Amino acid sequence: MKIWGILSGNRSKMRGCPKLNKTMIECPGCHLKLPDCHLDLPDRTNASGECLQAYSDLMSYTVAKQDPEFIHQHVVDTYAAQHAGGSTRNITVAFGLIGLYLALEKGYNGKQVQQAHMRIAKTRKVWPRLEPPLQPLVLTVMDVLRAGTHGEKDTMIRKWMAAVWESWSDRHTWIRMTTDELLASSGNWRSGKRR
Ligand SMILES: [Zn+2]
Repeated sequence: MKIWGILSGNRSKMRGCPKLNKTMIECPGCHLKLPDCHLDLPDRTNASGECLQAYSDLMSYTVAKQDPEFIHQHVVDTYAAQHAGGSTRNITVAFGLIGLYLALEKGYNGKQVQQAHMRIAKTRKVWPRLEPPLQPLVLTVMDVLRAGTHGEKDTMIRKWMAAVWESWSDRHTWIRMTTDELLASSGNWRSGKRR
Protein backbone atom coordinates (compact mmCIF):
# COMPACT_ATOMS: atom_id res chain seq x y z
CA MET A 1 0.00 0.00 0.00
CA LYS A 2 1.07 3.54 -0.78
CA ILE A 3 0.84 4.64 2.85
CA TRP A 4 3.69 2.36 3.87
CA GLY A 5 6.06 3.84 1.29
CA ILE A 6 5.43 7.32 2.63
CA LEU A 7 5.76 6.17 6.20
CA SER A 8 9.06 4.41 5.69
CA GLY A 9 10.46 7.55 4.01
CA ASN A 10 9.07 9.71 6.79
CA ARG A 11 10.43 7.41 9.48
CA SER A 12 13.99 8.26 8.49
CA LYS A 13 13.12 11.98 8.54
CA MET A 14 11.64 11.55 12.04
CA ARG A 15 15.03 10.44 13.32
CA GLY A 16 16.46 13.81 12.36
CA CYS A 17 13.55 15.76 13.82
CA PRO A 18 14.46 17.64 17.00
CA LYS A 19 12.24 16.61 19.90
CA LEU A 20 11.80 20.18 21.03
CA ASN A 21 11.05 21.61 17.61
CA LYS A 22 9.20 24.88 18.25
CA THR A 23 7.47 25.05 14.87
CA MET A 24 4.18 23.22 14.90
CA ILE A 25 2.23 21.86 11.97
CA GLU A 26 -1.55 21.41 12.02
CA CYS A 27 -3.15 18.33 10.50
CA PRO A 28 -5.76 19.42 7.90
CA GLY A 29 -8.01 16.50 8.89
CA CYS A 30 -8.13 16.30 12.68
CA HIS A 31 -6.43 19.69 13.43
CA LEU A 32 -3.91 18.01 15.72
CA LYS A 33 -0.81 20.18 16.12
CA LEU A 34 2.52 18.36 16.23
CA PRO A 35 6.18 19.48 15.92
CA ASP A 36 6.94 20.09 12.25
CA CYS A 37 9.37 17.41 11.06
CA HIS A 38 8.95 18.36 7.38
CA LEU A 39 7.45 14.99 6.56
CA ASP A 40 5.97 14.27 3.15
CA LEU A 41 2.25 14.89 2.79
CA PRO A 42 0.33 11.66 2.18
CA ASP A 43 -1.31 11.65 -1.24
CA ARG A 44 -4.44 9.70 -0.27
CA THR A 45 -5.10 10.93 3.24
CA ASN A 46 -6.12 14.43 4.27
CA ALA A 47 -3.52 14.51 7.04
CA SER A 48 -0.13 15.95 7.88
CA GLY A 49 2.76 13.51 7.58
CA GLU A 50 3.31 13.96 11.31
CA CYS A 51 -0.28 12.93 12.14
CA LEU A 52 -0.02 9.96 9.79
CA GLN A 53 3.18 8.91 11.55
CA ALA A 54 1.34 8.96 14.89
CA TYR A 55 -1.39 6.83 13.29
CA SER A 56 1.27 4.40 12.10
CA ASP A 57 2.61 4.15 15.66
CA LEU A 58 -0.87 3.38 16.95
CA MET A 59 -1.38 0.77 14.23
CA SER A 60 1.82 -0.95 15.34
CA TYR A 61 0.21 -1.32 18.76
CA THR A 62 -3.17 -2.60 17.52
CA VAL A 63 -1.69 -5.02 14.96
CA ALA A 64 0.67 -6.47 17.59
CA LYS A 65 -2.26 -7.19 19.92
CA GLN A 66 -3.56 -9.98 17.65
CA ASP A 67 -6.81 -9.91 19.61
CA PRO A 68 -9.75 -11.96 18.30
CA GLU A 69 -11.98 -8.85 18.53
CA PHE A 70 -9.63 -7.08 16.07
CA ILE A 71 -9.70 -3.60 17.64
CA HIS A 72 -7.34 -2.54 14.86
CA GLN A 73 -10.34 -2.22 12.51
CA HIS A 74 -11.89 0.42 14.79
CA VAL A 75 -8.69 2.47 14.68
CA VAL A 76 -8.61 2.33 10.86
CA ASP A 77 -12.27 3.40 10.62
CA THR A 78 -11.99 6.19 13.18
CA TYR A 79 -8.89 7.66 11.58
CA ALA A 80 -10.51 7.51 8.11
CA ALA A 81 -13.70 9.23 9.29
CA GLN A 82 -11.67 11.90 11.06
CA HIS A 83 -9.60 12.68 7.95
CA ALA A 84 -12.34 13.30 5.40
CA GLY A 85 -11.86 15.99 2.76
CA GLY A 86 -8.81 16.86 0.70
CA SER A 87 -7.18 13.85 -0.91
CA THR A 88 -9.01 11.21 1.15
CA ARG A 89 -11.07 9.02 -1.17
CA ASN A 90 -14.88 9.00 -0.82
CA ILE A 91 -14.99 5.26 -0.22
CA THR A 92 -12.43 5.53 2.59
CA VAL A 93 -14.58 8.02 4.50
CA ALA A 94 -17.80 6.09 3.83
CA PHE A 95 -16.31 2.79 4.99
CA GLY A 96 -14.92 4.48 8.09
CA LEU A 97 -18.35 5.82 9.01
CA ILE A 98 -20.04 2.49 8.25
CA GLY A 99 -17.55 0.79 10.55
CA LEU A 100 -18.25 3.26 13.35
CA TYR A 101 -22.00 2.84 12.94
CA LEU A 102 -21.81 -0.95 13.07
CA ALA A 103 -19.45 -0.93 16.05
CA LEU A 104 -21.15 1.73 18.16
CA GLU A 105 -24.81 1.17 17.35
CA LYS A 106 -24.92 -2.50 16.36
CA GLY A 107 -22.29 -3.87 18.73
CA TYR A 108 -20.04 -5.33 16.03
CA ASN A 109 -16.47 -6.13 16.99
CA GLY A 110 -13.64 -5.26 14.62
CA LYS A 111 -13.67 -8.66 12.93
CA GLN A 112 -17.39 -8.40 12.21
CA VAL A 113 -16.95 -4.87 10.84
CA GLN A 114 -14.20 -6.14 8.56
CA GLN A 115 -16.52 -8.86 7.23
CA ALA A 116 -19.32 -6.31 6.66
CA HIS A 117 -16.89 -4.09 4.74
CA MET A 118 -16.02 -7.02 2.49
CA ARG A 119 -19.69 -7.68 1.75
CA ILE A 120 -20.40 -4.01 1.04
CA ALA A 121 -17.31 -3.72 -1.18
CA LYS A 122 -18.83 -6.33 -3.48
CA THR A 123 -21.89 -4.12 -4.13
CA ARG A 124 -19.73 -1.70 -6.14
CA LYS A 125 -21.63 1.38 -5.00
CA VAL A 126 -20.47 4.79 -6.20
CA TRP A 127 -19.84 6.73 -3.01
CA PRO A 128 -20.69 10.44 -2.72
CA ARG A 129 -18.20 12.91 -1.33
CA LEU A 130 -18.86 13.37 2.36
CA GLU A 131 -17.63 16.75 3.52
CA PRO A 132 -15.99 16.78 6.94
CA PRO A 133 -18.04 18.07 9.87
CA LEU A 134 -17.55 21.68 10.90
CA GLN A 135 -17.39 21.19 14.64
CA PRO A 136 -13.90 20.85 16.12
CA LEU A 137 -12.88 17.45 17.43
CA VAL A 138 -11.84 16.94 20.99
CA LEU A 139 -9.95 13.66 20.65
CA THR A 140 -7.28 12.60 18.16
CA VAL A 141 -4.93 9.71 17.54
CA MET A 142 -2.47 11.30 20.01
CA ASP A 143 -4.90 10.95 22.92
CA VAL A 144 -4.85 7.19 22.37
CA LEU A 145 -1.08 7.06 22.01
CA ARG A 146 -0.62 9.09 25.21
CA ALA A 147 -2.85 6.78 27.25
CA GLY A 148 -0.70 4.72 29.62
CA THR A 149 -1.55 1.04 29.89
CA HIS A 150 -2.94 -1.18 27.15
CA GLY A 151 -6.31 -1.14 28.92
CA GLU A 152 -6.31 2.66 29.01
CA LYS A 153 -5.39 2.79 25.33
CA ASP A 154 -8.29 0.50 24.42
CA THR A 155 -10.68 2.59 26.52
CA MET A 156 -9.43 5.73 24.79
CA ILE A 157 -9.96 4.11 21.38
CA ARG A 158 -13.65 3.65 22.28
CA LYS A 159 -13.89 7.30 23.41
CA TRP A 160 -12.19 8.46 20.21
CA MET A 161 -14.58 6.36 18.10
CA ALA A 162 -17.60 7.85 19.88
CA ALA A 163 -16.31 11.43 19.53
CA VAL A 164 -15.69 11.06 15.79
CA TRP A 165 -19.04 9.34 15.20
CA GLU A 166 -20.79 12.12 17.15
CA SER A 167 -19.09 14.80 15.05
CA TRP A 168 -20.82 13.33 11.96
CA SER A 169 -24.33 13.55 13.52
CA ASP A 170 -25.72 15.34 10.43
CA ARG A 171 -24.97 12.21 8.41
CA HIS A 172 -26.09 9.53 10.87
CA THR A 173 -29.47 8.89 9.24
CA TRP A 174 -27.93 8.50 5.79
CA ILE A 175 -25.17 6.20 7.03
CA ARG A 176 -27.61 3.98 8.95
CA MET A 177 -29.96 3.65 5.97
CA THR A 178 -27.21 3.11 3.41
CA THR A 179 -25.43 0.50 5.52
CA ASP A 180 -28.60 -1.42 6.35
CA GLU A 181 -29.71 -1.42 2.69
CA LEU A 182 -26.33 -2.54 1.38
CA LEU A 183 -25.95 -5.30 3.93
CA ALA A 184 -29.51 -6.51 3.26
CA SER A 185 -28.91 -6.56 -0.50
CA SER A 186 -25.61 -8.38 -0.07
CA GLY A 187 -27.39 -11.21 1.78
CA ASN A 188 -26.27 -12.94 4.94
CA TRP A 189 -27.61 -10.08 7.06
CA ARG A 190 -29.29 -10.36 10.41
CA SER A 191 -30.37 -7.20 12.15
CA GLY A 192 -29.23 -6.43 15.65
CA LYS A 193 -26.11 -7.62 17.38
CA ARG A 194 -24.05 -10.26 15.66
CA ARG A 195 -21.59 -12.18 17.79
ZN1 LIG B 1 -4.82 14.20 11.70
